[in-house]
Amino acid sequence: MSNRIARVLALLCSLGCSSGSREARAPMSDTYSEPRARMVREQLVARGIRDPRVLEAMARVPRHELVPEALRDEAYDDGPLPIGEGQTISQPYIVAAMSEAAALAGDERVLEVGTGSGYQAAVLSALAAEVYTIELEPVLAARAKRDLERLGCANVRTRTGDGYRGWPEAAPFDAILVTAAPEQVPPALLEQLKSGGRLVIPVGGSGDQDLWLYTKTERGVERKHLFPVRFVPLRSNADD
Ligand code: SAH
Repeated sequence: MSNRIARVLALLCSLGCSSGSREARAPMSDTYSEPRARMVREQLVARGIRDPRVLEAMARVPRHELVPEALRDEAYDDGPLPIGEGQTISQPYIVAAMSEAAALAGDERVLEVGTGSGYQAAVLSALAAEVYTIELEPVLAARAKRDLERLGCANVRTRTGDGYRGWPEAAPFDAILVTAAPEQVPPALLEQLKSGGRLVIPVGGSGDQDLWLYTKTERGVERKHLFPVRFVPLRSNADD
């Protein structure tokens, strides 16, 4: 294990999501510091997540504050959890793996499609300069907006709408993360990527999905298979 990862693991008692390592933050502990530190060690480091910034963000963001109150004690368990409206907050490992695949250094503009609980957006808030996140379901969008404000994620903009079309006014993006699965990659998302930009997206029907990393290059679009996944479907307004 590298020294940097060891240092991150030693620092697991911090809380909050105000962004990046630009600001000094007083270490704080909360009721869930211990299970959060265990989650980082046993679910992320043990399975190969190596980006120290991702590990640090996962060690910091209070996931228990973004799940329904009755499920707080399960917030750091190794799986997705229901968040209402038939939707789920993704498993911690998936959030970390998608964040790592985006390869963020700190100065990027990032789009997330599928705000859900706001957890992935809060993690991105600590990893990038600006985060735009869009959610189709108004009840979830309103709750995530409120929660992200409460956690101090001042660099996150939220919107209620259909992320299939991306967020043209804020494009182009250095990275786009899609946290619900379409049958095909939405063309607007590739269009809204900068040259060199990365799109991390699950693609497929309900039983058979794979996570892909698309990279836009001067020569066109390259794609790399990451691993099989199971996400809720990316719906469009037309489905309702
Ligand atoms: N990233 C979330 C998990 C999201 S679950 C988290 O960290 O909690 C997927 C979310 O995508 C659901 O909330 C669902 O309502 C939303 N969604 C589905 N189709 C969408 C669309 N076309 N545009 C935006 N959001 C969509």
